[in-house]
Amino acid sequence: MNTAKIQSTHCGRIAFVYVRQSTPLQVIENRESTERQYHLRERAIELGWPPSRVEVIDEDQGRSGSTAAHRTGFQRLAAEVVLGKVGIVLMLEASRLARNNSDWYRLIEICGVSGTLIADEGAVYNPREPNDRLLLGVKGTLSEAELFTLRTRLYEGRWNKARKGLLRFALPVGYAPTATGDWTLDPDTQVRERLDYVFDSFRRHGVVRAVVRDLKEQGLELPTRVTSKEGYGSVIWKAATLSAVIRTLHNPAYAGAYVYGRWEYLSDRRSSKTGKASAHARSVAQWPVKIPEHHPAYIHWEEFVKNQEQLRQNWGQDGNRGVPREGRALLQGIVYCGICGRKMSVQNRAVTEHRSPSYICERAYEDGDEKICQSMTSRPIDAAVGEAFLAAVSPISLRVSMQVLDQVEQDLVVQRRQRELQLEQARYEARLAQRQYDAVDPSNRLVAAELERRWNEKLERVAQLERTYAQAEREAEWNLTAEERTAITELSRDLPAIWSAETTTNQERKQLLRMAIDSVQLDGVSQTGQVEVQIHWRSGTISSLSVKRAAPGEGSLKTPPEAVSRIHEMTPSRSYAEIARSLNRAGLRSAFGRRFTTQHVGYICRRDGLTKRGPGARLKSRDSSDTAGSAKS
Ligand SMILES: [Zn+2]
Repeated sequence: MNTAKIQSTHCGRIAFVYVRQSTPLQVIENRESTERQYHLRERAIELGWPPSRVEVIDEDQGRSGSTAAHRTGFQRLAAEVVLGKVGIVLMLEASRLARNNSDWYRLIEICGVSGTLIADEGAVYNPREPNDRLLLGVKGTLSEAELFTLRTRLYEGRWNKARKGLLRFALPVGYAPTATGDWTLDPDTQVRERLDYVFDSFRRHGVVRAVVRDLKEQGLELPTRVTSKEGYGSVIWKAATLSAVIRTLHNPAYAGAYVYGRWEYLSDRRSSKTGKASAHARSVAQWPVKIPEHHPAYIHWEEFVKNQEQLRQNWGQDGNRGVPREGRALLQGIVYCGICGRKMSVQNRAVTEHRSPSYICERAYEDGDEKICQSMTSRPIDAAVGEAFLAAVSPISLRVSMQVLDQVEQDLVVQRRQRELQLEQARYEARLAQRQYDAVDPSNRLVAAELERRWNEKLERVAQLERTYAQAEREAEWNLTAEERTAITELSRDLPAIWSAETTTNQERKQLLRMAIDSVQLDGVSQTGQVEVQIHWRSGTISSLSVKRAAPGEGSLKTPPEAVSRIHEMTPSRSYAEIARSLNRAGLRSAFGRRFTTQHVGYICRRDGLTKRGPGARLKSRDSSDTAGSAKS
């Protein structure tokens, strides 16, 4: 046990035991190895260090060894060695210390300078001795090579398998592997149906939050695969969260595709805490491995693509007005909560619901909590803000449009000047080329030909710039005519008419609003039944209005009159269930766009004070078509 290398000078200093496992999993799994590492402490004592001067550095547990930058323990060790405080560094294998060669050689170097020994379970090395130094160097090189080979093999192997769709990973919930490694739908009906429900709910609501709320209202939990070691891979049920639903909707596996490499790990952007490379989602087009129709699907690929677009659109980021979208809530992107100051989002209803969208404060709502900060129907607020906009804009409209036009004109002047300069330069170069050509002796044919070619090139450039210039002038012209100017002025005077015109889209209305309004704050809490609206104009002024909240049931949230009259007609002779079936067969839907149920019909009858006659009357007028095909509804 090369103890001869240990001098009293070494024992007088501290012994450092460096303990490390690369990943948290290794820390848990490789208990034995960890124990062996801690045993090194005893070895240091055996080698002659008093227990009080043996220090264990284990803060790098769970950090990858491929670079020292995020391993504070290694950095501390190096610092102490440089200061000459360390007599010996002990580790399980020399290679454990640093998988990266430059770190390793730096350590050997500084250990050599400060006269520090390096030891593993088997031997003690003195980096000042050429033989030991060589050994340590070889160990480092080997370990790096080993890491490299391992990594390459694993990495390439993974990709090779993935490209064939054979790389196995934990299947998303809803799928089960067969003995041959194929994917089949989970045999558990409940799991499958719950996933179907999620996709269907998103189809209806178009908003993840509404899906979460829907699930919560129905008391439905979501199946989740356990990823921790205990019970790994088994399915448990958990309350629906926003992130779980988003993950499900984003997962291409449910559209039957085998996809590998959805995430890109950028090594130049690392977490400052863990040192791990940050993940960045690749777009669908950039996925390196995408095998469509690899396994049975829950939704069509087209629907998956549509969902991605929907999710992207729903994602209006804070502080960003976002683009005005189609959709009926006119303040989308510029509306803020007057209670907590957060940006409010728009909750659009499915078309079939015939309900106007709401403004909703996201606070405490992000994971579908029951409680929300505040929400209100957009309709009355939009109407009030639109009115205020028209009133405010009309007197200034003329000035604004003139300013805009002046700006356009100024821009054009600047652009024209740039083009003129460019053209002047090109003409000068052409003249120069011509002079050079003229100056050369015509008998020197080779040179003359080359100069002619250059001259021609310059002329070609001049012609091209002249064409561009002429075109730009032509295009600029329409902005500048007096007629256009008058027309636009008139247009801005006609704003109220434009605003209410049927041909004007909501997207255009939003754009108009944003020209004058910076943001709108809503407070529907301070005054019962009222919403306090604050409009922040782009000019810097603020105006306040008070808007009456929409009464419940107001607006289009009504059972279609045709359905109501049919109910009135049929009630005396039919059962509620029969009426519901008949309405559904006729293609009629409830106020919420759903199929009628017995309860629903009963509710309308009670609401309208309708009473039923005895069962005899019902039997007499029984419609034979009622009995057929009714099992479905
Ligand atoms: Zn709020």
